[in-house]
Amino acid sequence: MSILVYAENREGLFKKATFELLSFAQAMAREMNAEVVALSVGKVAQSELGKLGKYGASKVLDVSEGDFTLFDNRLYAQTVTAAVAHVDARVVLFPGSIAGTALAPNVAARLKAGLVSGVVELPSAYEPMEVRKIVFTGKAFARVKINTPIKVLTLSQNSFGVTEPVENTPAIEAFTPAVDATTAKNKLAEVNKQTGKLLLTDAEVVVAGGRGLKSAENFTMIEELAELLGAAVACSRPVSDEGWRPHDEHVGQTGKIIAPVLYIACGISGAIQHVGGISSSKHIVAINNDKDAPIFEVADYGVVGDYKTVIPDLINAIKEVRSR
Ligand SMILES: Cc1cc2nc3c(=O)[nH]c(=O)nc-3n(C[C@H](O)[C@H](O)[C@H](O)COP(=O)(O)OP(=O)(O)OC[C@H]3O[C@@H](n4cnc5c(N)ncnc54)[C@H](O)[C@@H]3O)c2cc1C
Repeated sequence: MSILVYAENREGLFKKATFELLSFAQAMAREMNAEVVALSVGKVAQSELGKLGKYGASKVLDVSEGDFTLFDNRLYAQTVTAAVAHVDARVVLFPGSIAGTALAPNVAARLKAGLVSGVVELPSAYEPMEVRKIVFTGKAFARVKINTPIKVLTLSQNSFGVTEPVENTPAIEAFTPAVDATTAKNKLAEVNKQTGKLLLTDAEVVVAGGRGLKSAENFTMIEELAELLGAAVACSRPVSDEGWRPHDEHVGQTGKIIAPVLYIACGISGAIQHVGGISSSKHIVAINNDKDAPIFEVADYGVVGDYKTVIPDLINAIKEVRSR
Protein backbone atom coordinates (compact mmCIF):
# COMPACT_ATOMS: atom_id res chain seq x y z
CA MET A 1 0.00 0.00 0.00
CA SER A 2 1.34 3.44 -0.84
CA ILE A 3 0.72 7.15 -1.05
CA LEU A 4 1.51 8.47 -4.51
CA VAL A 5 2.83 12.03 -4.78
CA TYR A 6 2.77 13.86 -8.08
CA ALA A 7 6.23 15.47 -8.06
CA GLU A 8 5.85 18.54 -10.25
CA ASN A 9 8.97 19.98 -11.81
CA ARG A 10 9.70 23.17 -13.68
CA GLU A 11 12.29 22.79 -16.41
CA GLY A 12 13.76 19.75 -14.67
CA LEU A 13 13.85 21.21 -11.15
CA PHE A 14 11.31 20.22 -8.51
CA LYS A 15 9.17 22.99 -7.09
CA LYS A 16 9.00 23.82 -3.40
CA ALA A 17 5.37 22.61 -3.51
CA THR A 18 6.68 19.13 -4.38
CA PHE A 19 8.85 19.01 -1.26
CA GLU A 20 5.93 20.28 0.81
CA LEU A 21 3.68 17.59 -0.65
CA LEU A 22 6.25 14.89 0.20
CA SER A 23 6.54 16.23 3.76
CA PHE A 24 2.75 16.02 4.04
CA ALA A 25 2.72 12.51 2.52
CA GLN A 26 5.37 11.32 4.95
CA ALA A 27 3.31 12.49 7.93
CA MET A 28 0.24 10.72 6.49
CA ALA A 29 2.26 7.58 5.78
CA ARG A 30 3.20 7.27 9.45
CA GLU A 31 -0.49 7.12 10.37
CA MET A 32 -1.40 4.79 7.51
CA ASN A 33 1.64 2.55 7.69
CA ALA A 34 2.15 3.18 3.99
CA GLU A 35 5.07 3.82 1.66
CA VAL A 36 5.56 7.21 0.01
CA VAL A 37 6.16 6.97 -3.73
CA ALA A 38 6.93 10.02 -5.86
CA LEU A 39 5.99 10.15 -9.53
CA SER A 40 8.19 12.32 -11.72
CA VAL A 41 7.04 12.98 -15.29
CA GLY A 42 9.42 14.44 -17.89
CA LYS A 43 13.18 14.78 -18.12
CA VAL A 44 14.73 15.26 -14.67
CA ALA A 45 18.37 14.59 -13.73
CA GLN A 46 19.07 11.64 -11.42
CA SER A 47 20.59 13.96 -8.79
CA GLU A 48 17.36 15.98 -8.75
CA LEU A 49 15.29 12.78 -8.46
CA GLY A 50 17.44 11.81 -5.48
CA LYS A 51 16.29 14.97 -3.65
CA LEU A 52 12.78 13.50 -3.42
CA GLY A 53 14.12 10.98 -0.92
CA LYS A 54 15.28 13.71 1.43
CA TYR A 55 11.69 14.86 1.91
CA GLY A 56 10.10 11.45 2.38
CA ALA A 57 9.92 9.41 -0.82
CA SER A 58 11.23 5.88 -0.37
CA LYS A 59 10.69 5.20 -4.06
CA VAL A 60 10.61 7.37 -7.19
CA LEU A 61 8.86 6.38 -10.42
CA ASP A 62 10.73 8.14 -13.19
CA VAL A 63 8.68 8.61 -16.35
CA SER A 64 11.14 10.15 -18.76
CA GLU A 65 10.57 7.99 -21.84
CA GLY A 66 8.09 9.52 -24.28
CA ASP A 67 7.12 13.05 -25.15
CA PHE A 68 6.12 14.83 -21.97
CA THR A 69 7.56 18.21 -22.88
CA LEU A 70 4.11 19.79 -23.13
CA PHE A 71 1.61 19.45 -20.32
CA ASP A 72 -1.29 17.48 -21.71
CA ASN A 73 -3.83 16.75 -19.01
CA ARG A 74 -5.19 13.60 -20.65
CA LEU A 75 -1.75 12.09 -21.20
CA TYR A 76 -0.50 12.99 -17.75
CA ALA A 77 -3.69 11.69 -16.12
CA GLN A 78 -3.27 8.34 -17.89
CA THR A 79 0.29 8.23 -16.58
CA VAL A 80 -0.71 8.96 -12.99
CA THR A 81 -3.53 6.40 -13.16
CA ALA A 82 -1.11 3.74 -14.41
CA ALA A 83 1.29 4.59 -11.56
CA VAL A 84 -1.52 4.27 -9.00
CA ALA A 85 -2.14 0.68 -10.13
CA HIS A 86 1.60 -0.04 -10.28
CA VAL A 87 2.26 0.88 -6.65
CA ASP A 88 -1.17 0.08 -5.18
CA ALA A 89 -1.70 3.68 -4.11
CA ARG A 90 -4.62 4.40 -1.76
CA VAL A 91 -4.00 8.13 -1.65
CA VAL A 92 -2.91 10.31 -4.57
CA LEU A 93 -1.57 13.76 -3.72
CA PHE A 94 -1.29 16.73 -6.05
CA PRO A 95 0.01 20.24 -5.38
CA GLY A 96 -2.54 23.07 -5.48
CA SER A 97 -0.80 24.40 -8.61
CA ILE A 98 -2.40 24.95 -12.01
CA ALA A 99 -1.20 21.53 -13.22
CA GLY A 100 -2.13 19.82 -9.94
CA THR A 101 -5.65 21.21 -9.83
CA ALA A 102 -6.17 20.32 -13.51
CA LEU A 103 -4.89 16.77 -13.11
CA ALA A 104 -6.57 15.82 -9.82
CA PRO A 105 -10.21 15.68 -11.05
CA ASN A 106 -9.19 13.91 -14.24
CA VAL A 107 -7.31 11.24 -12.26
CA ALA A 108 -10.11 10.98 -9.66
CA ALA A 109 -12.70 10.38 -12.39
CA ARG A 110 -10.57 7.65 -13.96
CA LEU A 111 -10.12 5.94 -10.57
CA LYS A 112 -13.72 6.56 -9.44
CA ALA A 113 -12.08 8.09 -6.38
CA GLY A 114 -13.31 10.77 -4.02
CA LEU A 115 -11.55 14.09 -4.58
CA VAL A 116 -10.96 16.94 -2.15
CA SER A 117 -9.12 20.02 -3.33
CA GLY A 118 -7.53 22.77 -1.24
CA VAL A 119 -6.73 20.56 1.78
CA VAL A 120 -5.03 22.60 4.52
CA GLU A 121 -3.95 20.10 7.15
CA LEU A 122 -3.37 16.42 7.87
CA PRO A 123 -6.55 14.29 7.95
CA SER A 124 -8.29 14.19 11.32
CA ALA A 125 -9.35 10.58 10.53
CA TYR A 126 -8.05 8.05 8.04
CA GLU A 127 -10.75 5.45 7.38
CA PRO A 128 -13.04 6.91 6.26
CA MET A 129 -10.72 9.80 5.63
CA GLU A 130 -11.76 13.22 6.94
CA VAL A 131 -9.97 16.35 5.78
CA ARG A 132 -10.28 20.10 6.24
CA LYS A 133 -10.36 22.28 3.15
CA ILE A 134 -10.70 25.92 2.16
CA VAL A 135 -14.08 27.03 0.79
CA PHE A 136 -15.55 30.31 -0.51
CA THR A 137 -12.17 31.58 -1.78
CA GLY A 138 -10.60 31.32 1.65
CA LYS A 139 -13.49 32.81 3.65
CA ALA A 140 -14.26 29.56 5.46
CA PHE A 141 -13.23 25.93 6.01
CA ALA A 142 -15.17 22.72 5.49
CA ARG A 143 -14.64 19.20 6.81
CA VAL A 144 -15.09 16.54 4.16
CA LYS A 145 -15.34 12.76 4.52
CA ILE A 146 -14.08 10.56 1.68
CA ASN A 147 -15.60 7.08 1.56
CA THR A 148 -13.98 5.67 -1.59
CA PRO A 149 -11.09 3.15 -1.35
CA ILE A 150 -8.76 5.52 -3.24
CA LYS A 151 -8.59 9.17 -2.20
CA VAL A 152 -7.34 12.04 -4.34
CA LEU A 153 -6.30 15.26 -2.61
CA THR A 154 -4.77 18.55 -3.65
CA LEU A 155 -2.85 20.37 -0.94
CA SER A 156 -3.26 24.11 -0.56
CA GLN A 157 0.25 25.49 -1.13
CA ASN A 158 2.25 26.52 1.93
CA SER A 159 -0.40 25.23 4.32
CA PHE A 160 1.78 22.41 5.70
CA GLY A 161 5.32 23.61 5.12
CA VAL A 162 8.47 21.74 4.13
CA THR A 163 10.09 19.50 6.73
CA GLU A 164 13.86 19.50 7.31
CA PRO A 165 15.56 17.35 4.67
CA VAL A 166 17.14 14.11 5.91
CA GLU A 167 19.75 11.80 4.38
CA ASN A 168 17.76 9.21 2.45
CA THR A 169 18.41 7.68 -0.95
CA PRO A 170 15.21 6.63 -2.67
CA ALA A 171 14.94 3.66 -5.01
CA ILE A 172 14.58 5.12 -8.49
CA GLU A 173 12.60 3.02 -10.93
CA ALA A 174 12.23 3.84 -14.63
CA PHE A 175 8.50 3.59 -15.25
CA THR A 176 7.02 3.37 -18.75
CA PRO A 177 3.24 3.46 -18.51
CA ALA A 178 1.22 2.10 -21.42
CA VAL A 179 -0.11 5.47 -22.56
CA ASP A 180 -0.69 6.46 -26.12
CA ALA A 181 0.78 9.86 -26.94
CA THR A 182 -1.44 10.10 -30.01
CA THR A 183 -4.43 10.50 -27.69
CA ALA A 184 -3.16 13.96 -26.69
CA LYS A 185 -5.97 16.45 -27.24
CA ASN A 186 -4.21 19.70 -26.49
CA LYS A 187 -1.91 21.63 -28.73
CA LEU A 188 0.16 24.29 -27.05
CA ALA A 189 -0.30 27.61 -28.82
CA GLU A 190 1.85 29.91 -26.71
CA VAL A 191 4.03 29.86 -23.61
CA ASN A 192 4.29 33.01 -21.50
CA LYS A 193 7.13 32.39 -19.13
CA GLN A 194 7.27 34.23 -15.86
CA THR A 195 9.96 36.84 -16.26
CA GLY A 196 10.70 37.52 -12.59
CA LYS A 197 13.71 35.94 -10.93
CA LEU A 198 11.57 34.18 -8.32
CA LEU A 199 8.69 31.83 -8.97
CA LEU A 200 5.71 33.69 -7.51
CA THR A 201 4.11 30.58 -6.04
CA ASP A 202 7.39 29.57 -4.35
CA ALA A 203 8.32 33.02 -2.98
CA GLU A 204 8.46 33.47 0.80
CA VAL A 205 7.90 37.22 0.46
CA VAL A 206 5.68 38.90 -2.14
CA VAL A 207 5.25 42.62 -2.78
CA ALA A 208 2.14 43.43 -4.80
CA GLY A 209 0.77 46.56 -6.41
CA GLY A 210 -2.79 47.40 -7.36
CA ARG A 211 -4.71 49.93 -9.42
CA GLY A 212 -3.93 52.51 -6.74
CA LEU A 213 -0.44 52.80 -8.27
CA LYS A 214 -2.08 54.34 -11.33
CA SER A 215 0.62 53.53 -13.89
CA ALA A 216 3.16 50.91 -14.98
CA GLU A 217 6.03 53.33 -14.24
CA ASN A 218 5.10 53.52 -10.56
CA PHE A 219 5.87 49.81 -10.19
CA THR A 220 9.61 50.63 -10.09
CA MET A 221 9.04 51.39 -6.39
CA ILE A 222 7.43 47.96 -5.90
CA GLU A 223 10.34 46.34 -7.75
CA GLU A 224 12.86 48.18 -5.60
CA LEU A 225 11.17 47.05 -2.37
CA ALA A 226 10.89 43.49 -3.71
CA GLU A 227 14.56 43.43 -4.69
CA LEU A 228 15.54 44.60 -1.24
CA LEU A 229 13.46 41.90 0.47
CA GLY A 230 14.36 39.12 -1.97
CA ALA A 231 10.67 39.04 -2.84
CA ALA A 232 8.61 38.27 -5.93
CA VAL A 233 6.39 40.96 -7.48
CA ALA A 234 2.66 40.39 -7.85
CA CYS A 235 -0.33 42.52 -8.86
CA SER A 236 -4.10 42.66 -8.81
CA ARG A 237 -6.09 41.71 -11.87
CA PRO A 238 -6.89 45.22 -13.19
CA VAL A 239 -3.16 45.93 -13.23
CA SER A 240 -2.43 43.03 -15.56
CA ASP A 241 -5.61 43.78 -17.57
CA GLU A 242 -4.24 47.31 -18.10
CA GLY A 243 -0.96 45.80 -19.28
CA TRP A 244 1.06 47.48 -16.50
CA ARG A 245 2.38 44.10 -15.39
CA PRO A 246 2.45 40.62 -17.05
CA HIS A 247 -0.53 38.31 -16.50
CA ASP A 248 1.58 35.71 -14.72
CA GLU A 249 1.91 38.13 -11.79
CA HIS A 250 -1.82 38.49 -11.20
CA VAL A 251 -3.00 36.86 -7.98
CA GLY A 252 -6.52 36.00 -6.92
CA GLN A 253 -9.47 33.86 -7.80
CA THR A 254 -8.67 33.98 -11.51
CA GLY A 255 -4.93 34.26 -11.09
CA LYS A 256 -2.29 32.58 -8.95
CA ILE A 257 -3.10 31.36 -5.45
CA ILE A 258 -0.15 32.15 -3.20
CA ALA A 259 0.66 31.67 0.46
CA PRO A 260 3.93 33.44 1.24
CA VAL A 261 5.21 34.12 4.73
CA LEU A 262 4.83 37.85 4.06
CA TYR A 263 2.48 39.54 1.57
CA ILE A 264 2.71 43.32 1.17
CA ALA A 265 -0.28 44.81 -0.67
CA CYS A 266 0.22 48.36 -1.96
CA GLY A 267 -2.69 50.31 -3.41
CA ILE A 268 -4.91 47.21 -3.45
CA SER A 269 -8.49 47.56 -2.18
CA GLY A 270 -8.88 43.93 -1.04
CA ALA A 271 -11.78 42.73 -3.20
CA ILE A 272 -12.92 39.20 -2.34
CA GLN A 273 -11.59 37.88 -5.65
CA HIS A 274 -8.13 39.23 -4.81
CA VAL A 275 -8.16 38.08 -1.19
CA GLY A 276 -9.10 34.57 -2.35
CA GLY A 277 -5.61 34.28 -3.80
CA ILE A 278 -3.66 35.58 -0.82
CA SER A 279 -5.65 34.69 2.29
CA SER A 280 -3.37 31.79 3.21
CA SER A 281 -0.39 34.17 3.56
CA LYS A 282 1.10 34.00 7.05
CA HIS A 283 1.36 37.79 7.47
CA ILE A 284 -0.43 40.39 5.36
CA VAL A 285 0.70 44.01 5.36
CA ALA A 286 -1.49 46.58 3.61
CA ILE A 287 -0.56 50.08 2.48
CA ASN A 288 -3.61 52.04 1.39
CA ASN A 289 -4.65 55.68 1.66
CA ASP A 290 -8.28 54.79 2.40
CA LYS A 291 -8.69 53.71 6.02
CA ASP A 292 -11.94 51.92 5.12
CA ALA A 293 -10.41 49.79 2.37
CA PRO A 294 -11.48 46.12 2.85
CA ILE A 295 -7.86 44.97 2.66
CA PHE A 296 -7.44 46.19 6.26
CA GLU A 297 -9.98 43.56 7.38
CA VAL A 298 -7.61 40.77 6.34
CA ALA A 299 -4.33 42.57 7.04
CA ASP A 300 -2.22 41.78 10.13
CA TYR A 301 -0.52 45.16 9.84
CA GLY A 302 -1.90 48.20 8.04
CA VAL A 303 -0.48 51.55 7.07
CA VAL A 304 -3.00 54.23 6.13
CA GLY A 305 -1.10 56.50 3.78
CA ASP A 306 0.06 57.29 0.29
CA TYR A 307 2.25 54.48 -1.06
CA LYS A 308 4.43 57.18 -2.68
CA THR A 309 5.66 58.21 0.76
CA VAL A 310 5.18 54.95 2.69
CA ILE A 311 7.21 52.70 0.32
CA PRO A 312 10.29 55.00 0.14
CA ASP A 313 10.13 55.35 3.95
CA LEU A 314 10.00 51.57 4.26
CA ILE A 315 12.90 51.14 1.84
CA ASN A 316 15.00 53.66 3.77
CA ALA A 317 14.12 52.07 7.11
CA ILE A 318 15.14 48.60 5.87
CA LYS A 319 18.43 49.97 4.51
CA GLU A 320 19.06 51.81 7.76
CA VAL A 321 18.44 48.70 9.91
CA ARG A 322 20.68 46.59 7.66
CA SER A 323 23.51 49.11 7.78
CA ARG A 324 23.72 48.93 11.59
C1 LIG B 1 -15.16 36.97 -11.71
C2 LIG B 1 -14.13 37.93 -11.21
C3 LIG B 1 -12.86 37.45 -10.94
C4 LIG B 1 -11.88 38.33 -10.48
N1 LIG B 1 -10.63 37.84 -10.22
C5 LIG B 1 -9.72 38.65 -9.67
C6 LIG B 1 -8.44 38.18 -9.30
O1 LIG B 1 -8.12 37.00 -9.48
N2 LIG B 1 -7.56 39.03 -8.75
C7 LIG B 1 -7.85 40.35 -8.53
O2 LIG B 1 -6.99 41.08 -8.02
N3 LIG B 1 -9.05 40.82 -8.89
C8 LIG B 1 -9.98 40.03 -9.46
N4 LIG B 1 -11.18 40.53 -9.82
C9 LIG B 1 -11.39 41.98 -9.74
C10 LIG B 1 -11.76 42.43 -8.33
O3 LIG B 1 -13.15 42.35 -8.15
C11 LIG B 1 -11.33 43.89 -8.08
O4 LIG B 1 -11.92 44.71 -9.08
C12 LIG B 1 -9.82 44.07 -8.14
O5 LIG B 1 -9.19 43.16 -7.27
C13 LIG B 1 -9.47 45.49 -7.71
O6 LIG B 1 -8.11 45.70 -7.91
P1 LIG B 1 -7.34 46.79 -7.06
O7 LIG B 1 -7.53 46.54 -5.63
O8 LIG B 1 -5.95 46.83 -7.60
O9 LIG B 1 -8.03 48.14 -7.54
P2 LIG B 1 -9.09 49.07 -6.81
O10 LIG B 1 -10.25 48.31 -6.32
O11 LIG B 1 -9.33 50.19 -7.76
O12 LIG B 1 -8.33 49.61 -5.53
C14 LIG B 1 -7.26 50.50 -5.57
C15 LIG B 1 -6.90 50.81 -4.12
O13 LIG B 1 -5.77 51.65 -4.12
C16 LIG B 1 -5.94 52.62 -3.07
N5 LIG B 1 -5.13 53.77 -3.45
C17 LIG B 1 -5.36 54.70 -4.41
N6 LIG B 1 -4.35 55.60 -4.44
C18 LIG B 1 -3.49 55.25 -3.46
C19 LIG B 1 -2.26 55.80 -2.99
N7 LIG B 1 -1.69 56.88 -3.56
N8 LIG B 1 -1.61 55.18 -1.96
C20 LIG B 1 -2.14 54.07 -1.37
N9 LIG B 1 -3.33 53.51 -1.78
C21 LIG B 1 -3.97 54.09 -2.82
C22 LIG B 1 -7.42 52.89 -3.05
O14 LIG B 1 -7.82 53.41 -1.79
C23 LIG B 1 -8.00 51.53 -3.35
O15 LIG B 1 -8.29 50.83 -2.16
C24 LIG B 1 -12.18 39.69 -10.29
C25 LIG B 1 -13.48 40.14 -10.56
C26 LIG B 1 -14.43 39.28 -11.02
C27 LIG B 1 -15.81 39.81 -11.30
